[in-house]
Amino acid sequence: MPYISGKQMIQKAWQNGYGIGAFSAHNAETIAAILEAAEAEQAPVMIQIGQKVISVMDLEPMKAMVDAFMEKITVPVAIHLDHSRSFEQTMRAARCGFQSLMFDGSHLEFDENVRITRDVANVASALGIGMEGEIGKIGGTEDDISVDEKDALITTCDEAQRFVDGTGVDYLAVSIGTAHGVYKQEPKLAFGRLKEIRDEIQKPIVLHGGSGVPDDQVREAISLGVAKINVDTELRQAFTQGVNEILQANPDEVTLAVSLGRGREVMRDKVVEKIRLFGSQGKAADFNSVSHSN
Ligand SMILES: [Zn+2]
Repeated sequence: MPYISGKQMIQKAWQNGYGIGAFSAHNAETIAAILEAAEAEQAPVMIQIGQKVISVMDLEPMKAMVDAFMEKITVPVAIHLDHSRSFEQTMRAARCGFQSLMFDGSHLEFDENVRITRDVANVASALGIGMEGEIGKIGGTEDDISVDEKDALITTCDEAQRFVDGTGVDYLAVSIGTAHGVYKQEPKLAFGRLKEIRDEIQKPIVLHGGSGVPDDQVREAISLGVAKINVDTELRQAFTQGVNEILQANPDEVTLAVSLGRGREVMRDKVVEKIRLFGSQGKAADFNSVSHSN
């Protein structure tokens, strides 16, 4: 099955009460790890391309690399641009064939965030692809974006509603107590607020900072309207652990296929674990009648 629109993917998961894993890719081995796990679990997945990898590898080569792996893939896949802070970059991603775009204007004044997000959402809608916006600041460090933890305010229902009305986004990232990176202490998600926002906006909600959130809290979040869960840190940890295993056993091992290959295996297992946690295993069948994007 080729690519499908991120909008269709997230919408279906939301309607059916499960979550789509949006897994960050950094190189060929991490792309392969995500796709292998998705295929094994027959799960729809998003492959996220974030700002850090774009700064090193750029957008188009990453898209081309995912394309190269898609030939043997039968499950629905959408390539998602994560945390873009530039309208131009979102347009480049759309032009090279991403199926889902995120514009993150959470650092901007509300009206400016609405204005640019709406522009991106209009293009995404015209192209039939998905669009994610963000309202409220999600703490932690990711993609060179640092937000003071004190600044990581919980999104209010009112701003979420005004943002959705003003932009027409397909799915919305909100701040409900998660953070990017490694948690210093166990996060406690603001479930009451999540439910209020869900009831108010009636759109799928995106959970950023999904790494390290206890499983029971992830399940509860999905039951309250979260349909896309971003996972990056835990996958990088798994990959690095695999590489380290090889290098610790033999510091002279310079065959990259061996060390990176082990990283790929350990990361694949982590992606499988997340797919099962999100309830998306076996859900590729939900998309049999969905039209394909390219
Ligand atoms: Zn994020």
